[in-house]
Amino acid sequence: MFCICKFVAPKKEKVIFLQMLKKGSKLNSILTGTCPRCQNESMYLDKNPLHFSKLIKMHEKCSHCGLRYEIEPSFFYGAMYVSYGLNVAISIATFIVSYLILDSSIKTSFIAILVANILLFPFVLRWSRNIYINMFVSFDNKFRK
Ligand SMILES: [Zn+2]
Repeated sequence: MFCICKFVAPKKEKVIFLQMLKKGSKLNSILTGTCPRCQNESMYLDKNPLHFSKLIKMHEKCSHCGLRYEIEPSFFYGAMYVSYGLNVAISIATFIVSYLILDSSIKTSFIAILVANILLFPFVLRWSRNIYINMFVSFDNKFRK
């Protein structure tokens, strides 16, 4: 019988990874799209990034801690730089998997990069906004419930 016990991460690493994801960490706020200061509610009107009509529609401020998400006018234009970095990272990762591991041709690899960037576009858009606001606002324990 096939044993998967070799592929399960050791307990210590698992605990460290779960601590990185728990409430209060920036990674939690970035991945869930919650308010960076209190992490009690989503910043977005619709949590699902695949509903394109509400992809970038956000609440004006957090109902729990009162944090205004658009810190200054056109604040999220800066997220374009984060988005660029994320897209480059995705492109490099796709190229490595496609060209070096799966041994595809250059042409196929570039098509794979294009497809990966198109498919991940809504997620990258939200992650870049989440990362950008988390660069300026930190979790504050006072607002923890
Ligand atoms: Zn909040």
